[in-house]
Amino acid sequence: MADATKKIRVGWFSYSCCEDSTIMFTEIMNDHWQDWKKIIDFRHARVLQSKNHWDEMDVAFIEGAVANDHQKQEVLRIRSLAKKVVAIGACACTGMPSAQRNTFNEKQKEEIEILRVRFASLPMVLKLSDVIKIDAEVPGCPMDTKKFLETLTALVGEWQAAQ
Ligand code: SF4
Repeated sequence: MADATKKIRVGWFSYSCCEDSTIMFTEIMNDHWQDWKKIIDFRHARVLQSKNHWDEMDVAFIEGAVANDHQKQEVLRIRSLAKKVVAIGACACTGMPSAQRNTFNEKQKEEIEILRVRFASLPMVLKLSDVIKIDAEVPGCPMDTKKFLETLTALVGEWQAAQ
């Protein structure tokens, strides 16, 4: 029999981006917090809490593109901890618009090289699926909130069915 006190373990992470999907996420909470707090254990969500954990997750939502090796290592770590990973927003799904420097011509690339080196950035900005396997995507700039709710509902349903 399913344990009614058990909660789905969720992480929310942001990398190179403007974090507008994080803002949408907190806006959605105005309507859903009372329900979510009964079923979701936020293991990591810096926008919601100061105490966060790097441990096992049922679902990790990742917003933003991957622009440097530190971010790449963190994303690989998230993949090793999370059963499902969802790319959130256009930057995570496609790289753009955060990956705009990938489209620069040689002269433009030369001009920004000093900054790229100073901030230890990768030669090319990567979309999430360039670094890890992803299980679902929520496109949009910022994310499509209807699609996000559908994805979250489906993942919670899958998790509940497995309990
Ligand atoms: S997809 Fe758009 S809203 Fe989301 S982080 Fe990128 S630029 Fe910002």
